[in-house]
Order: sequence, then structure tokens, then C-alpha cells
Amino acid sequence: MNYVSTRGQAPVLGFGEAMLTGLARDGGLYVPQDIPTLTTDQIAGLAGSSYEEAAFRIMRPFVGDAFTDDEFRAAIDRAYQGFGHAARAPLKQLAPNHFLLELFHGPTLAFKDFAMQLIGQLFQIALARDGRRVTIVGATSGDTGSAAIEAFRGLSNVDVFILFPHGRVSDVQRRQMTTPSEANVHALALDGDFDDCQSRLKDMFNDFSFRDEVGLAGVNSINWARVLAQVVYYFTAAVSLGAPHRKVSFTVPTGNFGDIFAGDIARRMGLPIDKLVIAANQNDILDRCLRSGRYQMDGVKPSISPSMDIQISSNFERALFDAYGRDGAAVARVMEEMKATGGFTVSQGALQSLREIFASGRVSEEETRATIAATLAQSAELLCPHSAVGVKVANSHLGTVPMVTLATAHPAKFPDAVEAATGLRPGLPPRMADLFERPERVTRVPNDLSALETLIRERRAL
Ligand SMILES: *Cc1c(COP(=O)(O)O)cnc(C)c1O
Repeated sequence: MNYVSTRGQAPVLGFGEAMLTGLARDGGLYVPQDIPTLTTDQIAGLAGSSYEEAAFRIMRPFVGDAFTDDEFRAAIDRAYQGFGHAARAPLKQLAPNHFLLELFHGPTLAFKDFAMQLIGQLFQIALARDGRRVTIVGATSGDTGSAAIEAFRGLSNVDVFILFPHGRVSDVQRRQMTTPSEANVHALALDGDFDDCQSRLKDMFNDFSFRDEVGLAGVNSINWARVLAQVVYYFTAAVSLGAPHRKVSFTVPTGNFGDIFAGDIARRMGLPIDKLVIAANQNDILDRCLRSGRYQMDGVKPSISPSMDIQISSNFERALFDAYGRDGAAVARVMEEMKATGGFTVSQGALQSLREIFASGRVSEEETRATIAATLAQSAELLCPHSAVGVKVANSHLGTVPMVTLATAHPAKFPDAVEAATGLRPGLPPRMADLFERPERVTRVPNDLSALETLIRERRAL
């Protein structure tokens, strides 16, 4: 299985190298050259299997010879054994024809554990086999960082540095990053917003001498292996609701477009998905883009669903690559235009092809709070603010096709917002009850590339 860059100028890589590399050297994102498909019988055959068995069958064709069947199975089994729910991604009913896919039973209580726990296991196997060391640097709006730290803490071949926007993540999110005591974990509070964190990370990847010197590896949502891991729960949810014999739609609280893009991959693999609905908070670049055809940056507005507070949706580039007929040069041109001018206009043909697959909606802060309260009253479910953004948008797309809204985080991860909306303060699951007693370890850093590179050179183990 070969992977190509969305900008068409980087070396073609296998799964293992694409996973370890993250961002392609031409600034693009790796995507599979061809999308393998599952037959109707193969999809039907997933019914009743464990999450792990489904994960193996769905992901195996993408992995090629990077891992043996035994290695890949073992990695999947270890990745999900720390989850607090036997189904891994249980499906609940919210209303007639509206279902909630609970993706928050992993160690850090957000859906990012699905991908990150698997990546941790796969990195460990690949690096140990080659006697290699890497430095993982990640940027986080809150949940990626803790999921990465949880996945890589204590692994012998990896240092993990996480950049998060100082003062803009919740206390639970911050403590999940700053309390692990392993020496290979480094939490960095950057003076800036999430887009600054993401930009400095991209700058580091584009500094090839630094990149090679420290063995830089990326696990942000641009990493193809993360997208792949997220494809699995689209299948398990849809099959539970009658796929492949029945269509299903999904609404996805969206920031960097990684989670919903995984849904698009599931669709292209043969899963009968009717609509993929993008749910945005007041940071609504994707919703505006689908409506107007103009992808235009507009500054970040901090919200009560902070993991979606972004203005540049990195993985959208993958959807653009397909919408532009896999023309890497065209994608490189619009990305250059965006870098230079802060926006670009999507071509008519590309816009039309995006609209065939994706719908979208935008939710205000007030609507988010009201949805948390209404869902508790009507369905006895306590939603986190991100999931509430999803439910609100899904409510206006309900019809004859079953709708699944992805619940991306546990309400206890955002207790202040949930309490403000409902008067109830959600408690942490018992396995993390002492989070607020553990000592924190964090370094405040300026929004400056060379200062960051110096710190990483000094801190990483040799
Ligand atoms: C990361 C995150 C999102 C957004 O996911 P993307 O893949 O970036 O679109 C939504 N909700 C929560 C809780 C998250 O942590």
C-alpha cells in the first residue's frame, strides 16, 4: 500500500514511513494512493464481532507489509485494553432515529484515544524493530496532547513534547498533560493560541535540518495512521444499525477535520453513508466554506468547546485533494494562496463534489448550552459541549436515514461548561479521581521557533 502527498511533490511512502513521518516534505499530507474497498459480504460479516476484530479487518488492507498480521493484531488488542467499556465505542439512542456514538471511554476521556493508543503501540513495534529513536512533537487544543502523552509515556524509544495554548485548555485537560511523571514526557505551555501551536509545529517540520537531527515525528491529526484508526467506529456503528443493508448518516463535531474525514474514507471503502454532517462551533470556517465556496481565515474565537477552536482545518486539505480530482499541483496552489492571503476560493467543480458528501451547520455558545440542558431533560444524557454542538446540528438533519452523532468527549472533561448549562457537575470516572491531587510539571514557552527548537534539543534524551 503506497501513500502519496496531497501536494504531489514528496516521496511516495509505505504505511510505516508515512506513519512515522506525519507531515510530508512538500508541506502536504499523506493519503493512500488507492482506497481499498470491502465487499457487502465483508461489511455484513463485521456484525457481532469484537471491536478489535472489526478494527483488524477494516484497517489491515491499508497497512501493507509494514506489520505482520500477528504484530498488528497484538497492537490493536493492547491499544484498546485500557478502555473503560467492553464495547469500546458503544452506541446509545437519543431520540427516534438519532443515536449517540460514545467515543470517550479511553484513558483520557476523548475520542482521540482511539487513534493515539493504537499509534503508540505501532510506533513501539516499528522503532524497536529498527533500533530507532524519535522525538514526537504535537500541538494540541487540549485533547490530542493528553491522548499522545497517555499513549507514549514511559516508552523507551520516544520523547514526547506537547505544545498547548497557555490558559486556553480546561483544568482537566491541562492536568492530564502535566501530571504524568515519566521523564520522556514534556508539557509545554505556549504563549499564543492553538493555531500558533500548530504553526510552530509545521515550522519545525519544515526545518529539515532540525527535523532530521532530532528524528522529528508527528502524531497530530494530520498523521494518516490516526485517520485510519478512526475509520473503524464508523463501520461498527453503521453495522449495528443495519449497514450494509441500510444507509446511515453521521454528524461529527469538527475542528481539524480528521474525525469526519475518517468517515469519508469509510464511505469510499464501501460503507453506505448517506451524509456526513460537519458540526462547527462559532469557529465556523468549514461551514462558511461549504455555503459560500470561500475558505477564509477569521481569527480564533475561544468557546466552551475548545477542542474545536481552530481557524485552519488541517485535514480539510485531504478532502480538497479528492475534490480537485487528486491534482496535487492545484492543492499546492490554493494552499500557497491561503498562506499568502489568508484564504482562497474553492473551484466550482470541487465545491460541488464536496457538497455531494458533506453537509454542515454552526452552533452558537448559547445554543450549545441550551442543547446540553435539553438533551439531559429529554433523553437523560449529559453531553460535553463538543458533543452538544454535534447533537444540535444533527437535530436539523434528522429524517428517514438513521443519524449517528459522535460524542467526542466525556462531560467530566468540561465540568464548568456542563455545570453552567445544567446545574450538575459531572464527576471523573473513579480511575482518575485523584487527578487534582497529583503534582504538575510544565514549561512556559514563547511563540518562537528557535527558542522551541533549542529547548527540544536540550531536553530530549540522546
Ligand atoms: C479533537 C476534538 C474534536 C475535533 O476533532 P477533529 O478531528 O479535529 O475534527 C472534537 N471534539 C473533541 C472533544 C476533540 O477532542
